[in-house]
Amino acid sequence: MINFLCPHCQGHLRVSNSIIFLTKTTKGKSGLVLISPELGDYSVKMHPTYNNFEEGEVVNFICPICYENLDAEEFDKNLAKIVMQEEDGKESTIVFSKIVGEKCTYQITEGNIKSYGNNLHGYDSTFGDIF
Ligand SMILES: [Zn+2]
Repeated sequence: MINFLCPHCQGHLRVSNSIIFLTKTTKGKSGLVLISPELGDYSVKMHPTYNNFEEGEVVNFICPICYENLDAEEFDKNLAKIVMQEEDGKESTIVFSKIVGEKCTYQITEGNIKSYGNNLHGYDSTFGDIF
């Protein structure tokens, strides 16, 4: 199984077939969100009472184990990050958008970057400087 870890406490965020996040919107709503571990799959599960986001709303992702904010501010204020650990032990950083409706994910391994989703242009320059 591919594991997903919090970059702060190394806690396991994946349970069964979901990555679990505590989230809080900039409008002050908070709730649990389950995201598919498949990179590029943007299906999200949450309680129906929480599922009333507006397109473009910013959602902060928080580790449900240590409560650290998962912001990837070194890349962009609108991106969050977690660690992906493959079966062979290889680790990469997964960076994704915090903006509702913006489907973009980056997989960063040493010297290499792969992108997923269809909303990638906004962050190209962010990563252009790194590699
Ligand atoms: Zn944590």
